[in-house]
Amino acid sequence: LVHAVNVTKSFHHNQVLKGIDLDVDEGRVVCLLGPSGSGKTTFLRCINQLETIDGGRIWVDGDLMGYADRDGKLYRLPDKQIAAQRREIGMVFQRFNLFPHMTAIENVAEAPVQVKGESKKAARQRALELLERVGLADRCAAYPAQLSGGQQQRVAIARALAMQPKLMLFDEPTSALDPELVGEVLSVMRELASEGMTMIVVTHEMSFAREVADTVVFMDGGVVVEAGAPADVIGNPQHQRTKTFLSRLR
Ligand code: ATP
Repeated sequence: LVHAVNVTKSFHHNQVLKGIDLDVDEGRVVCLLGPSGSGKTTFLRCINQLETIDGGRIWVDGDLMGYADRDGKLYRLPDKQIAAQRREIGMVFQRFNLFPHMTAIENVAEAPVQVKGESKKAARQRALELLERVGLADRCAAYPAQLSGGQQQRVAIARALAMQPKLMLFDEPTSALDPELVGEVLSVMRELASEGMTMIVVTHEMSFAREVADTVVFMDGGVVVEAGAPADVIGNPQHQRTKTFLSRLR
């Protein structure tokens, strides 16, 4: 479903991605690990076109993201088409980024109404189902400020799912949470994975990566150092940089 080849990205003179390759099959979960500054967030943002890449190509479900390829030459797609591509991809951020002036159900129903033109009634019905799925049906009328961080993040997941994405990107979804709230968010993500959602998850939660990921990718310094099954990359890392990173987490 995701096929990224030799993706490069610089900010000014700082090359943050130095040729990243990644393949994610449909229904699979990939966890991206790596030290701060290794380019994980930037790579996620490149996949869904929040950043423009300098080189390489990214396909999602057969669509070349951001560009049309004519005879090997790339042409930037019009904004409208890029927006359409982006709608197919859900993203959950470290900070929950809910609309503060809207209730949980309004947050979830907003995009389907505004962006997809669904009827308010249908969107609210689906929003309620999604909030039920993340265990928050009873909190649908609450505003973000009235919810715990874990609850807000679950609303954010429901909001992303409301657009019926093909792919979900998670950028350290639990790292802003108090430790006792991490589990409830991870368990929603586990369930999504078990239902067959294709997911790319930047996380420092090793137990989640071990149990849920089909593939773990360890990035450092803008390159993929090591990738493979969790039992190999986490359980038996081959590269010194991976070993050092993992030993610091323990
Ligand atoms: P973290 O775990 O801290 O989020 P990361 O692996 O996700 O780290 P990135 O956030 O992708 O790393 O950042 C990689 C590098 O890119 C950092 O040096 C960062 O300062 C730089 N960077 C990221 N976004 C921008 C930007 N918009 N402008 C300039 N530099 C940026």
